[in-house]
Amino acid sequence: MTDCKKIADLIFPDVTKTPEFYEEKYTVRNLPEGARVTRFAPSPTGYLHFGGLYAGFASKFTADSTNGVFMLRIEDTDKKREITDGVSCIVNGLSAFGIAPDEGVTGFETEQGEYGPYTQSLRRDIYRTFAKKLVEEGRAYPCFCTAEDLEKIHELQANEDIKGYYGKYARCRDLTDEEIIEKITAGIPFTVRLRSEGDITRKIKFDDMIKGKIEMSENVNDVVILKTDGIPTYHFAHAVDDHLMRTTHVVRGDEWIASVPLHIELFKALGFRPVKYAHIAPLMKEENGGKRKLSKRKDPEANVTYYIEKGYPKESVQEYILTILNSNFEDWRRANKTESVSKFPFNFKKMSVSGALFDLVKFNDVSKNVISLMTAQQVYGYVTDWAKDYDTELYELLTANPEKAKAIFNIDRDNPKPRKDIACWSEVRDYLSYFYNEIYTPDITLPESKNHADAAEILAKYKELYSENDTKDEWFAKIKELCTLCGYTPNVKEYKANPELFKGHVGDVTTIIRVAITSRVNSPDLYYIMQALGTDEVNARIDTAIKFYRG
Ligand code: GLU
Repeated sequence: MTDCKKIADLIFPDVTKTPEFYEEKYTVRNLPEGARVTRFAPSPTGYLHFGGLYAGFASKFTADSTNGVFMLRIEDTDKKREITDGVSCIVNGLSAFGIAPDEGVTGFETEQGEYGPYTQSLRRDIYRTFAKKLVEEGRAYPCFCTAEDLEKIHELQANEDIKGYYGKYARCRDLTDEEIIEKITAGIPFTVRLRSEGDITRKIKFDDMIKGKIEMSENVNDVVILKTDGIPTYHFAHAVDDHLMRTTHVVRGDEWIASVPLHIELFKALGFRPVKYAHIAPLMKEENGGKRKLSKRKDPEANVTYYIEKGYPKESVQEYILTILNSNFEDWRRANKTESVSKFPFNFKKMSVSGALFDLVKFNDVSKNVISLMTAQQVYGYVTDWAKDYDTELYELLTANPEKAKAIFNIDRDNPKPRKDIACWSEVRDYLSYFYNEIYTPDITLPESKNHADAAEILAKYKELYSENDTKDEWFAKIKELCTLCGYTPNVKEYKANPELFKGHVGDVTTIIRVAITSRVNSPDLYYIMQALGTDEVNARIDTAIKFYRG
């Protein structure tokens, strides 16, 4: 008869606490009925992937909309794959886009909340306490197989449907106490494995929040729960952490679905109530008529840093993520044009089962729309914040005269149909370059249909008529007058009816002025552009253009 208690004491001489101690320490949360406790649990092994942000948002939205709790837990049990600033990448990436966790890791070696530590490498004693319990109860045992032994087992299993450490392949499952004691005393390294009680002919059923009802065979594998260095595997840490942190809903990538039978067995063996799962399919991207996963390797936009560097405001990222997160979001947005995204009734059931499509073009359109609804003051604040780090010349120009900058950002903004020119702050330099001679490279080439002599004449007359003190209506009346003076018609319809009677129409006249002032055929309201530039600059640009067109 195996003396499990003796073996457990031998394996875990360092364990001084009991599972009851932790159960009491991390009491069941006192939250309103239906409140969901979720967590984002990345490993600090690389940059934050957009898919991670997407999953993080799903966790956060569901917690927020039920008055629950959203945690950030760092899963750093794989020290070999960890990168130096992995934790900061995650924390900064989340906070840049407005996902502040209610609890958990808040920065390098800092955290908040009563259910910590929230970094797995600091939870070693907790895992060992629960692993000891399993060994004591005969539900786990030490395994002395080496990597080579496991390799051999793998080879022997070439024709087996089920691979892994089970049945006759589980060589250490039935070692005697004497054998175990001898090996441990001899210092032979060992892992600790779950003693599975699963039966491959039996099924487990669970209701995934996203994918619906799923039925799978029970787990039969004696999976490693503690590695030779005493560090837990993902599976074991998941069960212990999510139980003690009182997580109610585990939102994670669907690569983990295959492990659910094991996770359910672990929860049961440990005497924990299982959590609910929401398995998210990876984000997809269209390519050559087909679809593939959004890839860390191939797509720069898969890295969350891309959005920080390009200067996408968090509102745009949130808006786009909700657009692809829930299929009914766009309808909700049409009905609630100015409502904060936090009011959206997020629902797992409205998520794509097979993988939402990520589309940068659509993302930019969403962002342009979001930015078009901001005030000039907000845009100014965001652009200068971004430019401070990424475009110091622009930063200096804007902050040297904030009133001018805000007047520029205000053009065509405060009206029912604001222009949608800017998708991200790195586009601002080009957008407003003609307002600042320091960064303006004029190119006043006219569209081919326009005649240089006519252009010079229009501009010369315009210069005489233009007055900074005119109201917009007065200014436009002068433009019409200018049309008539130069053989153009102020009336487009009239021109279309009898094109032979005119040199062109009012649109041609304003294009000539627009090009002279901004080097563009398309721009926000010309009247306000000239107001922002001031008469001296307007005149100087007109003079240059006249000279240029006269050759
Ligand atoms: N660290 C795991 C991963 O990055 C977390 C999975 C989970 O959320 O449980 O895939």
